Amino acid sequence: KSFRAPPEKLFKVIVIGDPTVGKTSFVQRYVQNTFKKDYKGTVGVDFALKIVQWRDHQKIKLQLWDIAGQERFTWMTRVYYKDAHGCIIMFDLTNQNSFKNTLKWKKDVDSKCTLSDGSPIPCMLLANKCDLPHRQVDINDIEAFYKEHNFIGWTETSTKEGLMVNDSMKFLLDVLMRQE
Ligand code: GDP
Ligand code: MG
Repeated sequence: KSFRAPPEKLFKVIVIGDPTVGKTSFVQRYVQNTFKKDYKGTVGVDFALKIVQWRDHQKIKLQLWDIAGQERFTWMTRVYYKDAHGCIIMFDLTNQNSFKNTLKWKKDVDSKCTLSDGSPIPCMLLANKCDLPHRQVDINDIEAFYKEHNFIGWTETSTKEGLMVNDSMKFLLDVLMRQE
């Protein structure tokens, strides 16, 4: 009996959030499984490609867009957001302000980016740097916030330790695959 593999999927996922929360480190960890302590904030948009084997017979081509140092230049974000299928909004657990600003990022995505049926694109909230002491954000606040603002889910991550990096992407990809 012959078996024909389903065609490769292509997804564009954008990674946004305040400067220094760990976006570039996240993409590096996920795509190359490395962590560099002094990653230089590059200027412009970087994107990384990863081929993900999904279940037994499906391949996903995943484009991860890293806003790379342009976080404050909101005039260019429309290009960046264009045709995105999914989104990761990241903050730093040791930086209360970066958590507050995730709402600004969410509204920005929702205003510039919708699926073909007009609904918002799936968005995952990541609470990064969970390896560090001196947290400034309460877990109950995150829990209430992600529900109120329609994220598909949230989790703590540490790109430094590699914690929940793969799992969080898997969660998002699962939602994207189900939407097809
Ligand atoms: P970006 O500006 O959002 O792209 O942030 P970067 O990925 O450049 O990271 C900013 C700084 O935070 C760097 O010094 C990283 O080494 C550090 N960093 C990123 N993720 C983590 C993490 O999970 N834990 C810790 N302790 N530091 C991190
Ligand atoms: Mg960066």
